[in-house]
Amino acid sequence: MSVLDALYHQVILEHNRKPHNRGALPDYSHKEEGANLSCGDEVTIYLKVEDGTVVAASFEGEGCAISLASASLLTLAVTGKSVDEVKALSGEFKALLRGEHGGASLGELNAFSGVSRLPVRVKCAALPWVTLEQALAGS
Ligand code: ZN
Repeated sequence: MSVLDALYHQVILEHNRKPHNRGALPDYSHKEEGANLSCGDEVTIYLKVEDGTVVAASFEGEGCAISLASASLLTLAVTGKSVDEVKALSGEFKALLRGEHGGASLGELNAFSGVSRLPVRVKCAALPWVTLEQALAGS
Protein backbone atom coordinates (compact mmCIF):
# COMPACT_ATOMS: atom_id res chain seq x y z
CA MET A 1 0.00 0.00 0.00
CA SER A 2 1.42 3.36 -1.01
CA VAL A 3 1.47 6.31 1.38
CA LEU A 4 -1.28 7.91 -0.67
CA ASP A 5 -3.48 4.81 -0.47
CA ALA A 6 -2.98 4.68 3.29
CA LEU A 7 -3.95 8.34 3.62
CA TYR A 8 -7.14 7.90 1.65
CA HIS A 9 -8.02 4.75 3.54
CA GLN A 10 -7.63 6.78 6.75
CA VAL A 11 -10.29 9.20 5.51
CA ILE A 12 -12.76 6.32 5.18
CA LEU A 13 -11.90 4.94 8.62
CA GLU A 14 -12.31 8.34 10.28
CA HIS A 15 -15.68 8.99 8.66
CA ASN A 16 -16.84 5.52 9.67
CA ARG A 17 -15.79 6.12 13.28
CA LYS A 18 -17.21 9.64 13.47
CA PRO A 19 -19.83 10.10 10.75
CA HIS A 20 -20.89 13.66 10.00
CA ASN A 21 -24.53 14.77 9.87
CA ARG A 22 -25.90 11.44 11.08
CA GLY A 23 -29.53 11.63 12.12
CA ALA A 24 -32.82 12.75 10.64
CA LEU A 25 -33.07 16.29 9.34
CA PRO A 26 -36.15 17.79 11.05
CA ASP A 27 -37.09 20.25 8.28
CA TYR A 28 -36.09 18.31 5.18
CA SER A 29 -37.60 18.93 1.76
CA HIS A 30 -36.38 15.65 0.21
CA LYS A 31 -36.07 12.19 1.75
CA GLU A 32 -35.27 8.83 0.19
CA GLU A 33 -34.45 5.37 1.50
CA GLY A 34 -32.05 2.96 -0.16
CA ALA A 35 -30.62 -0.48 0.52
CA ASN A 36 -27.77 -2.58 -0.77
CA LEU A 37 -29.00 -6.13 -0.28
CA SER A 38 -25.70 -7.77 -1.22
CA CYS A 39 -24.02 -6.23 1.86
CA GLY A 40 -26.96 -5.34 4.11
CA ASP A 41 -26.34 -1.59 3.97
CA GLU A 42 -29.34 0.65 4.58
CA VAL A 43 -29.40 4.42 4.25
CA THR A 44 -31.92 7.23 4.37
CA ILE A 45 -30.83 10.52 2.83
CA TYR A 46 -32.39 13.80 3.97
CA LEU A 47 -31.95 17.06 2.07
CA LYS A 48 -33.18 20.57 2.64
CA VAL A 49 -33.29 22.35 -0.72
CA GLU A 50 -34.03 26.08 -0.91
CA ASP A 51 -34.09 28.05 -4.18
CA GLY A 52 -32.32 25.23 -6.02
CA THR A 53 -29.49 24.92 -3.48
CA VAL A 54 -28.89 22.13 -0.97
CA VAL A 55 -28.66 24.06 2.31
CA ALA A 56 -28.54 21.01 4.61
CA ALA A 57 -28.04 17.26 4.26
CA SER A 58 -28.01 14.34 6.67
CA PHE A 59 -28.34 10.59 6.72
CA GLU A 60 -29.54 7.74 8.87
CA GLY A 61 -28.62 4.15 8.41
CA GLU A 62 -26.60 1.10 9.25
CA GLY A 63 -24.02 -0.61 7.15
CA CYS A 64 -20.39 -1.36 6.51
CA ALA A 65 -17.56 1.14 6.93
CA ILE A 66 -17.52 1.97 3.22
CA SER A 67 -21.23 2.81 3.03
CA LEU A 68 -21.23 4.86 6.24
CA ALA A 69 -18.12 6.81 5.26
CA SER A 70 -19.59 7.44 1.81
CA ALA A 71 -22.83 8.78 3.32
CA SER A 72 -20.89 10.97 5.77
CA LEU A 73 -18.73 12.46 3.03
CA LEU A 74 -21.79 12.92 0.81
CA THR A 75 -23.50 15.15 3.35
CA LEU A 76 -20.41 17.37 3.52
CA ALA A 77 -19.87 17.39 -0.26
CA VAL A 78 -23.38 18.38 -1.31
CA THR A 79 -24.17 21.06 1.28
CA GLY A 80 -24.00 24.51 -0.31
CA LYS A 81 -24.11 23.20 -3.88
CA SER A 82 -26.89 23.72 -6.40
CA VAL A 83 -29.03 20.73 -7.29
CA ASP A 84 -27.44 20.68 -10.76
CA GLU A 85 -23.94 20.71 -9.23
CA VAL A 86 -24.91 17.88 -6.89
CA LYS A 87 -26.21 15.76 -9.77
CA ALA A 88 -22.98 16.39 -11.70
CA LEU A 89 -20.88 15.53 -8.65
CA SER A 90 -22.81 12.30 -8.16
CA GLY A 91 -22.07 11.36 -11.77
CA GLU A 92 -18.37 12.06 -11.24
CA PHE A 93 -18.30 10.01 -8.03
CA LYS A 94 -19.89 7.02 -9.74
CA ALA A 95 -17.33 7.36 -12.55
CA LEU A 96 -14.61 7.31 -9.88
CA LEU A 97 -16.06 4.05 -8.53
CA ARG A 98 -15.91 2.58 -12.04
CA GLY A 99 -12.26 3.60 -12.30
CA GLU A 100 -13.16 6.11 -15.04
CA HIS A 101 -12.33 9.35 -13.19
CA GLY A 102 -8.94 10.64 -12.11
CA GLY A 103 -10.41 11.92 -8.85
CA ALA A 104 -8.14 14.94 -8.54
CA SER A 105 -11.09 17.36 -8.52
CA LEU A 106 -13.09 15.36 -6.00
CA GLY A 107 -11.26 16.25 -2.78
CA GLU A 108 -11.82 13.82 0.07
CA LEU A 109 -14.21 11.78 -2.08
CA ASN A 110 -11.10 10.58 -3.91
CA ALA A 111 -10.58 8.35 -0.85
CA PHE A 112 -12.92 5.93 -2.60
CA SER A 113 -10.83 5.59 -5.76
CA GLY A 114 -9.43 2.27 -4.50
CA VAL A 115 -12.97 0.88 -4.25
CA SER A 116 -13.04 0.54 -8.05
CA ARG A 117 -10.65 -2.39 -7.58
CA LEU A 118 -13.08 -4.07 -5.13
CA PRO A 119 -16.22 -4.80 -7.18
CA VAL A 120 -18.22 -6.11 -4.21
CA ARG A 121 -17.66 -2.78 -2.43
CA VAL A 122 -18.68 -0.51 -5.31
CA LYS A 123 -22.38 -0.85 -4.43
CA CYS A 124 -21.59 0.05 -0.80
CA ALA A 125 -19.88 3.29 -1.77
CA ALA A 126 -22.46 4.12 -4.45
CA LEU A 127 -25.56 3.47 -2.28
CA PRO A 128 -25.80 6.92 -0.62
CA TRP A 129 -25.28 8.66 -3.98
CA VAL A 130 -27.80 6.52 -5.85
CA THR A 131 -30.27 7.25 -3.04
CA LEU A 132 -29.46 10.95 -3.27
CA GLU A 133 -30.17 10.94 -7.01
CA GLN A 134 -33.53 9.26 -6.35
CA ALA A 135 -34.32 11.90 -3.74
CA LEU A 136 -33.61 14.64 -6.26
CA ALA A 137 -35.31 12.98 -9.22
CA GLY A 138 -37.79 15.39 -10.69
CA SER A 139 -36.46 18.44 -8.88
ZN1 ZN B 1 -21.50 -2.43 2.43
